Amino acid sequence: MDQVRLYEPGSTHVVGDGFHVRNLFPSNEIDRDVSPFLMLDYAGPTFYPATDHPRGVGEHPHRGFETVTIVYQGKVSHRDSAGNSGVIGPGDVQWMTAASGVVHEELHERDWAQQGGTLQAVQLWVNLPSSHKMTAPRYQTLETEAIPLVPLEGRAGSVRVIAGEFGGAKGPATTVTPMQLLDLRLLAQRGMALRFALGWNVALFVLSGQVTVNGSNPVGEAQLAVLASSGAPILLEAQEDAMLLVMAGEPIHEPIARYGPFVMNRQDELAQAVNDYRAGKMGHLD
Ligand code: MN
Repeated sequence: MDQVRLYEPGSTHVVGDGFHVRNLFPSNEIDRDVSPFLMLDYAGPTFYPATDHPRGVGEHPHRGFETVTIVYQGKVSHRDSAGNSGVIGPGDVQWMTAASGVVHEELHERDWAQQGGTLQAVQLWVNLPSSHKMTAPRYQTLETEAIPLVPLEGRAGSVRVIAGEFGGAKGPATTVTPMQLLDLRLLAQRGMALRFALGWNVALFVLSGQVTVNGSNPVGEAQLAVLASSGAPILLEAQEDAMLLVMAGEPIHEPIARYGPFVMNRQDELAQAVNDYRAGKMGHLD
């Protein structure tokens, strides 16, 4: 059976003034074990009081990867220099391919912020292979209605298929490399099996509840289980009602060079990204 590694959040910080996050990676320094995924921030659940000045993170750039935002509670708005904008609420996903570069802002949606409320969201960064790091930016809003819901056998729960395939359903996200992204709900005392291709990296993040992986390895709230798939089934059993984000994908076997919001393959490409951003080549918000 595949060896399972367990992680707690490796750091806690605030992104801008609107996202109180617990980071699972890269803070745990597990780049190679979670490729093609680069970063996992778990925001909230945090209560934000009513305000006329929406919190969030103002204009900032990205290059070389994709940002995937999944909202569970609350509402987030996005606007970028490629001319894309959108609002996502509970169940919705925003899949933003920064690629050669965008400047964007991510804020609490204005009307929601005026009411105040609890925000719970995940931001996942997905790497691009070197061949795609300098392609044109792309933006996909995946609304909850467009995300197939697959009931599990034995009334064990359900899976929403955001990317890749599960149980005969195909997720709406267009991805550059093969991967699966699943929003999984497993009921207490029920179990299920997941299966991935040989060599894929698998990361199971528990938002709430508790599960065991392969008969042991208890994983609880805000914890992450990581394994390399041998192709064998991965058995999950819930001790209490559990909500998980399942991230699985074919690793990208290329060097990773990071500098803040830029993720490239080499240091000179990071220097170029900084120069291009400063020169306005990633655009501006209107
Ligand atoms: Mn951003």
